[in-house]
Amino acid sequence: MTREIVIFGDPVLRKKCAVVEEVTDEVRELVDDMLETMKEAHGIGLAAPQVGVVIQLAVVDVSHDPECCSYLRVDGKDVEMEAAMPLIFMNPELEYDGQEDVMSEGCLSFPDIRGDVTRPYEVKATVGFLDGRSVVIETDGLLARVIQHESDHLNGVLFIERMSTATKFSLRGRIRRMQRDCRVD
Ligand SMILES: [Zn+2]
Repeated sequence: MTREIVIFGDPVLRKKCAVVEEVTDEVRELVDDMLETMKEAHGIGLAAPQVGVVIQLAVVDVSHDPECCSYLRVDGKDVEMEAAMPLIFMNPELEYDGQEDVMSEGCLSFPDIRGDVTRPYEVKATVGFLDGRSVVIETDGLLARVIQHESDHLNGVLFIERMSTATKFSLRGRIRRMQRDCRVD
């Protein structure tokens, strides 16, 4: 079942999400719904708060893009990117190293807004999988970026806050409009 995607302006997007302590049937159902919702919206990542659930859970699927990373390691072992998709992770803790990179980003909670965001090019993420394992994921490029973008959501951080002042300034009219149009039930 698809769920409604929360649009910017809704305070739920600013919440720090709770750690997932246990993978219940409810969590599994949420994962299925998030995968379906992400696919229908043609997104490459979706975090639980974007469907109004404030827990540290996100889904990612970049399998449409074979160039999305130059390597992917899970617990130190090389893994085929396609085989690891969709990537479903909980409770991420990120470490960075080295270079930064600029890329144009969008977000399903910000229809019609795209802008350049600078982020570390590589990431090392310690995450929980649904089967109970805690694993270390290392990757770069677009995949590293999406993992960072979704992990930000779980901390109530939005991509507009990662934009340069000039980029934000150029988008300010549209951002304000979205905040105004937001309906909070
Ligand atoms: Zn987003």
